[in-house]
Amino acid sequence: MINTLVVGEIKDGKLSENSFDLLKISDKLSDRTSLVLCTSSQDNVPLDDIKILPVDFIYLLKIPSLDIDRGIYDIDTYALSVFLNSKDFNLILFSKSEYGSVVAPRVAFRNKKKYLSDCTGISLKEDLFLIERPIYGGVAIAEYQVSTNISPVFSIRSGLQNLDDISNNKIAAIEEIDIQFNEPHPAKMIEEYSNDSLEEIKLEDAKIIVSGGRGLGNEIAFEELKKLANLLGGALGASRAACDAGWIDHSLQIGLTGKTVTPDLYISVGISGASQHLAGCSMSKNIVAINNDKDANIFNVARFGVIGDWNQIIKSFISSIEDLSLK
Ligand SMILES: Cc1cc2nc3c(=O)[nH]c(=O)nc-3n(C[C@H](O)[C@H](O)[C@H](O)COP(=O)(O)OP(=O)(O)OC[C@H]3O[C@@H](n4cnc5c(N)ncnc54)[C@H](O)[C@@H]3O)c2cc1C
Repeated sequence: MINTLVVGEIKDGKLSENSFDLLKISDKLSDRTSLVLCTSSQDNVPLDDIKILPVDFIYLLKIPSLDIDRGIYDIDTYALSVFLNSKDFNLILFSKSEYGSVVAPRVAFRNKKKYLSDCTGISLKEDLFLIERPIYGGVAIAEYQVSTNISPVFSIRSGLQNLDDISNNKIAAIEEIDIQFNEPHPAKMIEEYSNDSLEEIKLEDAKIIVSGGRGLGNEIAFEELKKLANLLGGALGASRAACDAGWIDHSLQIGLTGKTVTPDLYISVGISGASQHLAGCSMSKNIVAINNDKDANIFNVARFGVIGDWNQIIKSFISSIEDLSLK
């Protein structure tokens, strides 16, 4: 019997889309699914929505103010570690979000569990989890067989698996657990947290991304890409070369040492398609590449390619969209 714990995330008063994906994965693999959420008094936990989720148990870990903990999640890490000490699961799933990437490995380490990050495929064969994850910057996919007996922790890339909706005939039992902190917590040493990120739509959640590289030539060019992203209701991204040049904030970097994205549409502008960049975007459903070098590597992964100067192409693309939206 597979008993799975999904570590959920609340965003804007709702369970995040990534967390829903995890519930769907768990529903396919498991006999029993539990959901755990770390909640503070400031959190707007949507209890009415959560009660009807297709899970067997919901654990609400009551923790102190999260304000001092944003970005480092020490308190969540502590709370989840304490919780897991008292419960047994065959499988613990995090999403490969910023939260999951920070919390999952620390929780696994503290609870002496094996951890695999950034899994892109997961299935069950007898008493083994079969896992796929990209390696060597995304140029190869490694396959792992992990025993269900060792209670592993996986972080799962969202938006990849074609997941069926779950029919829900369950009524979840909800348990609230107060997490006690016996010692002053190191997170209290942080006096101020400032969010410098330029992201308006989170890159990891965006369905459309317009991403710029060194081929743009300067910082001002990103204004044009921003305009296009706004018109399409998408988010802005960048290559590391553009970030390193200081043209755009590093929080928007996509790739091996940046963010991993899986949008429906990834428009790459003036980006050569180095393997380290593709590690972060090659799982996009459709890549459109604009580059003036017909031999650029990005065309090898693009579904549609436009060879030419980005400036002319983007300008006429923007004016066509504006014309269409006026009609
Ligand atoms: C350990 C490590 C980690 C890394 N991590 C990352 C990462 O996370 N993300 C990342 O992006 N990179 C990463 N890199 C860097 C990566 O190797 C590349 O150097 C980088 O992706 C190149 O960025 P670029 O494509 O913008 O620039 P370039 O490779 O310089 O490409 C610019 C492209 O623009 C085109 N171009 C020029 N002018 C125009 C024009 N007018 N119109 C249209 N096209 C034009 C050119 O033909 C060229 O193809 C990493 C490298 C290492 C070693």
